[in-house]
Formats: sequence, C-alpha cells, structure tokens
Amino acid sequence: MTLICPTCRAKNADARQCRRCGTDFTLIMKARTDAERLIYLAASSCRDHDYENMMQLAENAVRLWRTPAALHMTACAALLNHKYDAALSLWQQVSNNCPRKAV
Ligand SMILES: [Zn+2]
Repeated sequence: MTLICPTCRAKNADARQCRRCGTDFTLIMKARTDAERLIYLAASSCRDHDYENMMQLAENAVRLWRTPAALHMTACAALLNHKYDAALSLWQQVSNNCPRKAV
C-alpha cells in the first residue's frame, strides 16, 4: 500500500519513515494496523450475530483508517442494524470512490 507523506506529499511504499523528508510513520502504521484489527473483530461480531457491536467496531475502524473495506463493513453493519439510509450512503461512498465524505 502506498502511503502519501502528510508532511511533503511524497509517495512511499510501506515504510517506517518518509524516503524524502524522514517523517516518522510509526503512529500512522499503528492506526492502520488497529483499523484492520477492528475490521477483523467486526467480522467476528457478525458471525456471533452481535450486530450492534459489529457496528461500533466498524465505525471505529472508519475513524482510524477510512478504507473501502472499512466502509463496506460499516455499510453491512448498518444494514444488519436496519439503518438502511446509512447503509446506502456508505455503499454509495465506496461506489463513487469518495471515501472522504462523512459517515
Ligand atoms: Zn515526507
């Protein structure tokens, strides 16, 4: 996954620091790892039919790292919680490649 440096906007392959300016990416990488773990836990909650917990975990994942996978999981959780408008909105955000819009 390419990471764009928040300091100088250089594109970086997975790295602990920016190849151009040396900005430390440790916290960014931790946020990404934490978000991936939350998505995994949300899927686990889905398997347990605990859809409220699934929704909270997925929303927290989106807050940490707004990826299509996190938005998809949140959309599925919204659907399972009968929040159809939210599910549609989230799904459209992914479909339109506009993941920066609010949940
Ligand atoms: Zn940089």
